[in-house]
Amino acid sequence: VSAVRRERQEWLLPREGELRRGLLAEVALELPTWKTYAFGVPAELAESVRPGARVTAPHGRSGREVEGYCLAVSEGEWDQTLTLIQSATPPAVELSAPLVELARWVGQYYQCTPGAVMSMLLPRTLGEVRPKRERIVRRTEAPIPEKASDRLRRLLEAVPREGVTLASLRESGAATDTLIRGAVRKGLLAVVQREVALTTDDSGRAEAPMSEEDGYALTEAQAVALQALSDAVAGEAFRAFLLFGVPGSGKTEVYVRAIRAAIARGRQAILLVPEIALATQVVERLARRFARVAVLHGQMSPRSRVEALARIARGEVDVVIGTRTAVYAPCCRLGLIVVDEEQEGSFKSLSSPYYHARDVALKRAQIERIPVVLGSATPALETWYNATLAGRYQLLELGTRVPGAELPRAELVVSDPDEGLSEDAYGASADSDANRGILSTRLRTALLATLKRRDQAILLHNRRGYAVALRCDTCGLPLRCPKCMSLLVLHHSDETVRCHRCSHRDRAPQRCPVEGCGGALQRGGLAIQRLEEELRRVAPDARVLRLDSDTMRTREDYQTSLRAFAEGAADVLIGTQMIAKGLDFPVVRLVGVIDADAPLYLRDFRATEFAFQLIMQVVGRAGRKAGESLAIVQMRREPPPALKAALAMDYRQFADAELAVRQRYAYPPFVRLARLVFADARPDRAADAARRAAETLRELAAAINPAVRVDPPEACAAPRLREMNRHQVLLRGPRETGVQKVLAAALTERKLPAVQRLTVDVDPMDFS
Ligand code: ADP
Ligand code: ZN
Repeated sequence: VSAVRRERQEWLLPREGELRRGLLAEVALELPTWKTYAFGVPAELAESVRPGARVTAPHGRSGREVEGYCLAVSEGEWDQTLTLIQSATPPAVELSAPLVELARWVGQYYQCTPGAVMSMLLPRTLGEVRPKRERIVRRTEAPIPEKASDRLRRLLEAVPREGVTLASLRESGAATDTLIRGAVRKGLLAVVQREVALTTDDSGRAEAPMSEEDGYALTEAQAVALQALSDAVAGEAFRAFLLFGVPGSGKTEVYVRAIRAAIARGRQAILLVPEIALATQVVERLARRFARVAVLHGQMSPRSRVEALARIARGEVDVVIGTRTAVYAPCCRLGLIVVDEEQEGSFKSLSSPYYHARDVALKRAQIERIPVVLGSATPALETWYNATLAGRYQLLELGTRVPGAELPRAELVVSDPDEGLSEDAYGASADSDANRGILSTRLRTALLATLKRRDQAILLHNRRGYAVALRCDTCGLPLRCPKCMSLLVLHHSDETVRCHRCSHRDRAPQRCPVEGCGGALQRGGLAIQRLEEELRRVAPDARVLRLDSDTMRTREDYQTSLRAFAEGAADVLIGTQMIAKGLDFPVVRLVGVIDADAPLYLRDFRATEFAFQLIMQVVGRAGRKAGESLAIVQMRREPPPALKAALAMDYRQFADAELAVRQRYAYPPFVRLARLVFADARPDRAADAARRAAETLRELAAAINPAVRVDPPEACAAPRLREMNRHQVLLRGPRETGVQKVLAAALTERKLPAVQRLTVDVDPMDFS
């Protein structure tokens, strides 16, 4: 084959001394580098080789065929040294020049291969989606037989000349499948398949639907913020804003109107929301405010995704609302990007490339020369730093809540000052002491009073870092996952123990499995289940609705439950941190947080920030509409100053205290971090690889940028995961690209020792 190819190539290329012009494609091959290569485009492939096209081309001395992606096509000089593209599949969605530039940046910033970035922009399934077919039932020429039954006669008369879809015939109830099949066999009906034309149905409407909210007169702070954003939209230049305001201060209203301003100028907008928002009323409410909307999320079928992307690319959609991947939406005339709840962890990808959608949004806005708005009540400290000390973003502040809504009164209860959580390397603590101290006396009293007044309450148990396991009476050890050593959680519903870290699951044992022990196992139970039990004891008549990832399997479950609560179908909503975010329950009068300080026991430099955000969010749930409300925040220990600030809902005080700590210990936003995790099932391999990698990286740093530091290698906080041992190396460097330069040198030259799984995470958020 390759001889034929070479011959063909010689025949296509100019002869020696001859000059010719032709098409050249810039191609990123699937190699661990973003160095690109130029190939000639043979005439018969000119149609297919466009930016985003998947191509194959010969690489290296051996000339082996390597796959890659076309980034750009231009006309240039062909000479004899040129090699040609061998095959090409055109992209399903056209990739604009700004998106190609964004892809290059993502690859270089997050240190991942072109293939990983491009398949994210252009999911592989795009090319493979077959057009949907529908079955059409038609009458044949055959007349209705004399002796046809009434049922058959009715069916034949129900089928119009031009035919009807099988689905609608079934739905109409005119016939059973057996009857239809019989008629087909008798030659009275025919069933044909037809391709369904791609619909563009909801792109027709032009007028934005009026919602009650369009009638609001903006508060002064809202008006000032909107003016700044509208000016920026008109300015058609890169600008970054932080819209900072407590929950309920009217940020969403400002986004909606800024997006309208962009649409009015003929531009499109992207509104990024955290994953959790999709499961709530937030997105529904937002989508109703615009006429031509596409909602993009991770659970779409490949087919509806392709359709949505195609409509976006053709400009038939004004507003794209979606989770993190929507930052890559192929908008053809983007005018504004909004990132709502920009501090949310779900904007960070969980697989390579480990990009952060907020940071990609900033880069995209810069490339497209448009404004970007980050919104939050509790900005990530990186964002706050950029909007204040570093002066990179403009700070827009919505100081107070919209008229009529009051901030709740917040109280701190230190529930059990003597009984500290026993810290555990896996971020979990085992507590043998059943239900004692779940509800402090203060919280219990307030709850009973609320119920007596027939008001609603929300109780949140912070499960993060507080999963309670089975513990042996005799040896005192908790039951651990045999695969990854994290604490197993008991599920009462089916008497199983499950690992929430890997997917290990087993029947709940009766006796301690530790060799030579066999003692009786004490049951703790899942924190949230224990809370439920405790509630039933304290307030047996209260209607309790529980909402966590164990009871809520789908988006629909979630929406149904929330709607039920909003309509007053339950008195108390209990849940994990899931219920803290983005919900709007105007009538809730009491919010209780249990173990609000649990994140502090995680091995993560953002622990205080997480705890602060959680408390702020949950306290913000109460009292969204007029009337007095109360938030009770229970902690196990006297909180550090940064957390006390949460009770006063004072973000600035928190940020000042916490930024000082970050600076002192050289953490983001003052440095840039990268985390390498070496995972391997073979004994000692991971540890060994991490140790050698740290040495190599140190040498490279010394040569490339001595400001980059390499921390000593160590076992990860979860030292075993899915039967692999895990060790990590952390790099920290100046905020400019020093860290990436060192990584690039190591990765492209393949200088790091091989392990079964190596992950490279720039700006990591997960330290498990
Ligand atoms: P945030 O996004 O800051 O949490 P929202 O924009 O969701 O706040 O506003 C909170 C509530 O206040 C919503 O129910 C919203 O409809 C309402 N609201 C927003 N702006 C105004 C306004 N100017 N006047 C009256 N109500 C408003
Ligand atoms: Zn496990």
